[in-house]
Amino acid sequence: MQFKQIAGQAAIKQRLINTVNENRVSHAQLFLGPEGSGSLALAIAYAQYLSCEDKQPGDSCGVCSSCRKYQKLAHPDLHFSYPTFGTPKETAIDFIESWREALLENPYLSLDIWTSYLDAGNKQANINIAECHQIIKKLSFKPFESKYKVLIIWLPEFLDKQGNALLKIIEEPQPNTLFLLVAQNQDQILNTILSRTQLVKIPVLTYEEIKAELMQNHHQTEFAAAEIAYLSNGNLTEALAMLQQENKSYHTLFVQWLRLCFANKGPEVMAFVEQASKMGRENQKNFLRYGISFIRECCMLMSDAGSLVHLPAEELDTAQKMTKVMTLSMAQAISTELENAHYHVERNANPKILFLDVSLQLIKILNFKTLPQGTLYIPN
Ligand SMILES: [Zn+2]
Repeated sequence: MQFKQIAGQAAIKQRLINTVNENRVSHAQLFLGPEGSGSLALAIAYAQYLSCEDKQPGDSCGVCSSCRKYQKLAHPDLHFSYPTFGTPKETAIDFIESWREALLENPYLSLDIWTSYLDAGNKQANINIAECHQIIKKLSFKPFESKYKVLIIWLPEFLDKQGNALLKIIEEPQPNTLFLLVAQNQDQILNTILSRTQLVKIPVLTYEEIKAELMQNHHQTEFAAAEIAYLSNGNLTEALAMLQQENKSYHTLFVQWLRLCFANKGPEVMAFVEQASKMGRENQKNFLRYGISFIRECCMLMSDAGSLVHLPAEELDTAQKMTKVMTLSMAQAISTELENAHYHVERNANPKILFLDVSLQLIKILNFKTLPQGTLYIPN
């Protein structure tokens, strides 16, 4: 993860970069920040910067061999420790694949998200004694490839008294070993650990930072971004969850629309047109924009660029099914229709006529295999 991929926090980023360039990296640091502030992402970006082979003035290079491994969270000198919910014998390494997946999908992971990712329900989260022994074992080796070996402990609040087993290694680690603890509640961390770490306070994100992030990286209009930023209270995890909630209902509606057009069901299509015309302009624009990006993801699946697709599991499943009944040129034609519709909504077109017109075009594209302009559709 690079610093530039993380929302806001310009001052902290600069401060972290300075510690590396001025050679004053403290070997045990506690990143303390509220949920949704990006503290875990910052710790990873910091570690990546530290081991980057071609450091740029304001960020890691992102392309060297170390950065490439860091970006997959799979560098042999990067270790993670985090709460798990299993038996006392299970440790973080048993869940590493899920961890990488969850974190790559959402670098603003919260304990709630992690719990549901592992389907852990009401089970108690903890970092158990077996994990502490694992940590000690892992850190007794020298780094494999980098100058530094880094251990990121996420939510050390869940280290019970057994965490004291780590004191010696935190106090006198092997040379070039770095501990980054990422916590939310200072009060819940063992004092013995607290006193051995240097504190890096991560502030809550500002309204402006969240709004900018939603507009730049999540295709939100200024209006929609402002509303979510206001409601999220500086918590980006929360903001992203709201976005997903919104996308989820757009997803259902959009797929339903395509199905109706595909089945060429007149009365139901009319009911959809009625519903869409009452959504309000901002909502209509967001809905169309959702459709455009969903179709774009379908196009990537059809072009064998599946690794670039970032859809939640349920939407990915639908997209995969759709690619079986849709060709690339159909998808492109649908996308053009949606782009046009978006353009006209922005210019105050009558929503009922507009959605009816787009629906008719979609029926044509999906059924009659002719492009809207009347050109003949030639299957691949
Ligand atoms: Zn690099």
